Amino acid sequence: MTNIGFIGLGNMGGPMAANLVKAGHNVIGFDLSEAALTAFKNIGGTKASSAIEAVENADIVVTMLPAAKHVEAVYCGENGLIQASKKGTLFLDSSTIDVETSRKVAKVAAKAGRLMMDTPVSGGVAAATAGTLTFMCGGSDDAFKKGKEVLDVVGGNIIHAGASGAGQAAKICNNMMLGIQMISVCEAFAMADALGLDRQKLFEISSAASGQCWSLTTYCPVPGPIPTTPANNDYEPGFAAAMMLKDLRLAADAAKAVGVNNVIGQKAKELYEAMNDAGMDGKDFSGYFEFMTKKQN
Ligand code: NAD
Repeated sequence: MTNIGFIGLGNMGGPMAANLVKAGHNVIGFDLSEAALTAFKNIGGTKASSAIEAVENADIVVTMLPAAKHVEAVYCGENGLIQASKKGTLFLDSSTIDVETSRKVAKVAAKAGRLMMDTPVSGGVAAATAGTLTFMCGGSDDAFKKGKEVLDVVGGNIIHAGASGAGQAAKICNNMMLGIQMISVCEAFAMADALGLDRQKLFEISSAASGQCWSLTTYCPVPGPIPTTPANNDYEPGFAAAMMLKDLRLAADAAKAVGVNNVIGQKAKELYEAMNDAGMDGKDFSGYFEFMTKKQN
């Protein structure tokens, strides 16, 4: 049993923390949202009254926060987690943020004698609930060895991507592929409709042909082929279009910083910007299909 502090008990953090509780760890959690805290208490977690209380006796701390500004403030701000924790504490930040902030916070942690690893995830709420997330880890061998013991409970694939920031780099590259692929699948179904090709037939054929990808076979953006996808539930998220836009912006910034000409990644960002601006930011990112087909009608 490990003493684990868990900060950020939202859509992803809630089920991740629940799996750690189920596995018999002593998990003390904190979130600014009273509803998230109550849900955590109801599944057997221990509610903390502040982020500091959640980390002061922890051996490992997991954070699952919306964006870089939250991570930096929670870790390094006045009354930050790093200062409030014991020396030797391992921090695992599973939020999706930019590489630079991730490395900066890890440096502050290392200077204070704490270990830190960036551990962003892929898989969404369903995988968080099932304990099958893919973790992309950036940190030292020591941090990876210690962290993997806990992450094995909440993940199916725990991969050491490299040194600090490498996990976030992997996540940004992965989600750029995802954003582009989802748009390509939506455009293919719109074409099928216009060409008089049955959607189910396109699904069956491309699932067994070279167009196959996760956005088609696991997360199909049109209702019907996979009954459990957001497309069958008025595009309720899942993974919100606002989150996809955040990740494509991270990809655009990273590409600019390192001089990569990511033409299609940039275009995908613009298209998700348009979807968000049209008021569909709270819809699932696969709702791009509805956005593009409505716009054309
Ligand atoms: P969410 O908004 O549901 O959860 C974030 C939680 O953090 C909220 O409950 C919020 O109250 C809490 N929070 C914010 N500031 C805080 C603070 N200072 N102290 C304590 N709690 C604070 O978001 P989510 O969907 O769980 O996503 C979390 C992260 O995971 C994001 O970085 C996102 O990009 C990434 N991610 C999400 C998914 C997904 O499918 N939702 C998939 C992969 C990665």
